Order: sequence, then structure tokens, then C-alpha cells
Amino acid sequence: MKQKGTRDILFDEMKIWQYVEENIRKICKEYNINEIRTPLFEATELYARGVGDETDIVNKEMYTFNDKGGRSITLRPELTAGVVRAYIENGLASTMSPLKLWYVGNMYRYEKMQKGRYREFAQFGMELFGSNSYLADVETICVSYELFKRLGLQDKVELSLNSIGCDKCRKEYIEKLREYVKPRLNNMCDNCKTRYEKNPMRILDCKEECCKKELENVPMITDYLCDECKSDFENVCKLLDEISIPYVVDKKIVRGLDYYNKTVYEYTAKDLGLAAGGGGRYDKLVEVLGGNSTPAVGFGLGMDRIIILLKEYGLCNNLTSNVDVYFAIIDDKAYAKAIEIVTKLRSLGIVVEYDICKRSFKSQLKYADKLNANFVCIIGEDELKNDECIIKKMSDGSQQTVKLDEKDIFESIK
Ligand code: AMP
Repeated sequence: MKQKGTRDILFDEMKIWQYVEENIRKICKEYNINEIRTPLFEATELYARGVGDETDIVNKEMYTFNDKGGRSITLRPELTAGVVRAYIENGLASTMSPLKLWYVGNMYRYEKMQKGRYREFAQFGMELFGSNSYLADVETICVSYELFKRLGLQDKVELSLNSIGCDKCRKEYIEKLREYVKPRLNNMCDNCKTRYEKNPMRILDCKEECCKKELENVPMITDYLCDECKSDFENVCKLLDEISIPYVVDKKIVRGLDYYNKTVYEYTAKDLGLAAGGGGRYDKLVEVLGGNSTPAVGFGLGMDRIIILLKEYGLCNNLTSNVDVYFAIIDDKAYAKAIEIVTKLRSLGIVVEYDICKRSFKSQLKYADKLNANFVCIIGEDELKNDECIIKKMSDGSQQTVKLDEKDIFESIK
């Protein structure tokens, strides 16, 4: 039996995935972003260090096990840490800077299931290494926004932005935050009590109602930004205004992972209450994982959520992939010739099927109908003798006889 939180994606839905992935590939090519594939499992330690041991992901959601060699292994719960490890281990810093990478891949989190929340799910992500300019933040936003735009989802998802500052400005802020939270801590959840000690900013991300209530008037990091963080954030906003990418500033966004700094952002499908993606700058992570200090920024968009949005809003209704021509073969001796022509037509980009069950002519036509074939090419004994075939147009039933040759067939089905 299928495991909880996993799904079989069958062919009708796969068409939507292919459509989204085609758009991703196209956009990434245009933006000169390089594809990267990293392993499905990594050493557990990578995530403890790279995601943060106070995060829900590391604390509660990882699929961790010991392999037969006694190593602690984790199925990737996100991909940034793995990409950063690959960046360091393969010396990618010396290949090009800035360097832009993208991926689509499955990840695994042991989560409570809801609509659009699975234990195996996929993200499209981008990581950009080697630029500390706000221009890099904007470049990643352009790429993610472009995908929503090409899929017709730009008005359905809202981009929210915030800055969570750097170590410098956080010092003062965290003091203020602790001051505010301390007298309220007794009314807050156990996780927040631990966060208060270890990583107080994560308290802002708590979803528990009791904590949300206590945090109603919490001081915001945006009021404590240092000059550099402040001007970076203003520049991001200004440039987005100028290039007409709509956004709202949401001071509550801190992101669920530990490694972010400065600009952070999220995409939310407001009407459906679904988070569609998130991203931000993570200038410390490369160093934390053993590389040279390298500024970086990236995002991860939920593929499964994007598919849900496309379905909900009816933006993927025309993705039927028809068969261009079905070869109905009535004479056994015609197979060799038919296969030769079919192979040539396929190499010209024509979608072709032929009978591989030796069915009756009637059943072959029925099957062609099921396949939504636009044309049927009929080869019987007489046609084979005359080196001809009959091309039948399925929409109106009209027929013509053409030479049994890929060029003539190609012309007649155009
Ligand atoms: P995160 O890596 O947690 O920042 O998530 C980035 C995006 O991935 C989210 O906004 C969702 O769209 C998607 N996502 C995260 N967790 C899940 C999940 N369990 N199932 C499906 N999509 C998810």
C-alpha cells in the first residue's frame, strides 16, 4: 500500500507537471541558470548545521535512519543545504561568479497532512552564489515571478517581502524581542520557550494561536535595521516598483529555516490559503558548511502547490496531447514498411502510434479514436501492393490516397 503523504502521479496530471517543467526549463535557459542534481540523501549532520537544529524541519520532520554502515542518513527535507554542499565540494566558486543554479526535485518531510501538504513533495528552486548586491535578490524574484506569470498565476499569488537584517542589526533587535517576550513566555508554547533561549526570532514564525496572541504588539526587526540592510531593502523595493513586479511588505515574515538574512520573501495563493514558495538571502550558509564566505540568495517554489493552483483556476485545461497519426495495419506484410515510415515520421516530430496487438481493423479504429488521433493511415493488402496508403481525417471522415512514403504522408497530415 502507498505510504501516507505519497502519491502516484498519473498521466493526466503528469501532463500538467510536464507543462510546468517545460516553462521552468525555458525560463532558466533564458536567464542562463545552470541545472544541478544532488543526491536524494545526505549526511544528517548537513541539515542539522545547514537548516538549523531549532527548526521544525530538523526537530520533527526529517526522515532519518542509520544505513548498513552505521552512518546517520537523512532523505533531503529541502535542497539548499545539498546544493551548497555541492557548491563547496566541487569547487564551483572558482568556475564562475556569480553562479546561478536551478533544480526540480523531490524532498521529504514527516508532516501532518493537509491539502497540498505531503510527505514527499517537489520544489523548483534557484540558488545564486557570489553577489551581495540587492540586484541578485531582485534577479531571483524576477525568475520566480516570471514562472507564475507564464503560467497565468501572477494575479493569484501574492509576493510578500521583508528584511530580517544581518547579525549586526539583529543583536539589538533580539534584546528588544527577548525583553518583550519574557513576561509573556509562560503563556506561550513549549517550542517557543526553547526558541527564546536558542533562536528567539523563530518565535515570530510560531503558528500556535496562544503564541500569535501574545505576539500582537511584538517589536519588528524592520525598525532595527542597520543602514546597509535598510538601504538594501529599500533598493529591492524600489527596483521591483520600477520593473512593475507587485509585492507587499510583510514585517512578520521570518522564514522557517535558520540560515536566512536580509531580504526574505514568500509567495502565497491568498484565496486558497496556500503557501506557494519562499526565498531569501543566506550569506552565512556557505561558510557555516565549510566553504569560503560567499553571499548567496535563492528560492524554492512548491511544485505540487503550483499544480493545485493551475487546476483550481482552470489554467491547464488544454494540455491534451493528441496522437497526430495512427497507422492501422491490416496486412501482416505491411509491418516492416510501416515501422520504417513511422520511425521517420517520429524523427520529424510527429506523434505516431501503430497496432502492436494485431487487432482487427475495427478495433484498431476504436483504439485510434480513444487516442484522439487526428489522422489514421490505413495500409491493407491492396495499398501495400500499390505502394499507397489511405489517410483518413478523423474530424470529418474525409479520405485521400497518398504514396506510402513519409514525405507524402507528412504533407497530407499537416
Ligand atoms: P520551505 O522549503 O518550507 O520554505 O517551502 C517552500 C515551498 O515548498 C512552500 O511554500 C510550499 O509551496 C512547498 N512545500 C513545503 N512543504 C511542503 C509539503 N509538505 N508538501 C507540499 N509542498 C510543500
